[in-house]
Amino acid sequence: MTNQPSPLALVPFVSVENMMRLVHHIGLERMLAELTDYVQADFARWEVFDKTPRVASHSAQGVIELMPTSDGEVYGFKYVNGHPKNMREGRQTVTAFGLLADVDNGYPVLLSEMTILTALRTAATSAMAARHLAPRGATTMAMIGNGAQSEFQTLAMKTVVGIDTVRLYDIDHAATEKCARNLAGSGLNVVKCTTPEEAIEGAQIITTCTADKQYATILTDNMVGAGVHINAIGGDCPGKTELHRDILLRSDIFVEYPPQTRIEGEIQQLADDHPVHELWQVIRGESPGRTDARQITLFDSVGFAIEDFSALRFVRERINGTGFFEPLDMLADPDDPRDLFGMVMRAAAS
Ligand code: NAD
Repeated sequence: MTNQPSPLALVPFVSVENMMRLVHHIGLERMLAELTDYVQADFARWEVFDKTPRVASHSAQGVIELMPTSDGEVYGFKYVNGHPKNMREGRQTVTAFGLLADVDNGYPVLLSEMTILTALRTAATSAMAARHLAPRGATTMAMIGNGAQSEFQTLAMKTVVGIDTVRLYDIDHAATEKCARNLAGSGLNVVKCTTPEEAIEGAQIITTCTADKQYATILTDNMVGAGVHINAIGGDCPGKTELHRDILLRSDIFVEYPPQTRIEGEIQQLADDHPVHELWQVIRGESPGRTDARQITLFDSVGFAIEDFSALRFVRERINGTGFFEPLDMLADPDDPRDLFGMVMRAAAS
């Protein structure tokens, strides 16, 4: 007798192809808006989650990280890499996959690609922060770094915050051309710029999303005027930052999880006790967001496990009743739970 996998042990798997089908089924901008609400809902119940800085394995070429969390009922983790050199070799800088499991019995309940999902959740988290921190009525965003994340970042700001213009800049002109091409037809006024100074002209929101494994200076202090919101995405590893330290000293800084951001964010350039605001407290109304029109607000984004948990939670709910997943036989589940050996032996006969 061969062991047929029990339906309880089959894990729904969302491949890259199925993730793309799900995005088109829902609609990209609607999915970004809904993901923003999912991330916000989980930030609003911050205290129920297990929280730990991600576990990072650094090399000269990049980093490989595990990002775990649990809300007591569901456990989740993401595997993600960051390798700036990959792009030159025809590979993605960032790739990822993730899993949810039932805390009650430990069985996985979802396995999913997360390269696309990470771009979506990172954009949703940026939009969530900007919703609370950007100047009211912001219409123009500068997008510096026009790589894999850039269109997602831009469209989330359009859908959630209401920008109508994006000003693009990348050291590689081909990236700007690609981004402009992809955003044509989005309803946004897309302006291609040849310097970062030109890109930030008139922008109320400045997003930096560049990849370089070093202390880079994408923005210098004299480039940043009063009243803007900076959404700093690209600096997310020890030794990898994008902003000149003087900008940080003039800004009110908002972070995801301080113990992780102190290691990985722009604030690694500051003293360990430099004051920062926690985004979840702003979302709950327990800490002020933007308080005046001349204030510079900075979201020092590094990406936190709860955002991935929210995104996986969204996918799990939205694939229900669709064909956008395959049942994966990834758990050995013998009919007699103690007869794992017997199940292996019986397989020889089949
Ligand atoms: P990517 O390699 O596809 O794009 C990066 C772009 O930055 C490239 O087009 C490159 O030419 C450009 N660039 C490099 N140096 C520049 C400079 N000095 N000025 C202007 N442009 C410059 O990478 P990606 O997937 O878009 O990711 C970008 C960064 O965001 C990475 O560092 C990644 O680790 C980080 N990231 C952060 C989060 C988060 O949650 N905070 C999530 C995903 C990715």
